[in-house]
Amino acid sequence: MIVRGTEVAYYLICPRKLWLFSHGLRMEPFSDTVFIGKLLSEMTFRRERHKEVEIVEGSKFDFIRFGDEIVIHEVKKSRKLDHAHKLQVKFYIYQLRRMGLNCRTAIIHYPKAMRKEEVELEEEDEERIERAIKEIRKIKAMKSPPPVKKRGYCRTCAYYNFCFV
Ligand code: SF4
Repeated sequence: MIVRGTEVAYYLICPRKLWLFSHGLRMEPFSDTVFIGKLLSEMTFRRERHKEVEIVEGSKFDFIRFGDEIVIHEVKKSRKLDHAHKLQVKFYIYQLRRMGLNCRTAIIHYPKAMRKEEVELEEEDEERIERAIKEIRKIKAMKSPPPVKKRGYCRTCAYYNFCFV
């Protein structure tokens, strides 16, 4: 069962969101928040020579290559969920390293806040990621979605109408 980078972030944000997303219920095309995020991403990288690729099945990200080193770049709209963003990019580094590629660093861009955050994969992260992968697989294999649990994040979630209206 493939685990995607987005699912790693959703796992930390809300297991129900993870389940809905992984079962093909995509509300993102109808979400203003997601649209703004995509626009920010395009604007941030407009002048830079990034390449967006899907090196690992299910994980699509921007990167720049310096010699044999790959640096991942990810744009996020807000820093509110930075713990989830960090685990997502660490997961990308983890995937690339397992493929034998030289990747140590990811940079998360927060253009609205005019901030960048550099993230590295620490030794203890590998265990955390492997645990997360197991949990994500369990959640995805559930026959029905985890119940609605109100969180501070819900109001800006693309699935808000689905869960609460
Ligand atoms: S609206 Fe709230 S409960 Fe529903 S998927 Fe989003 S975060 Fe989870």
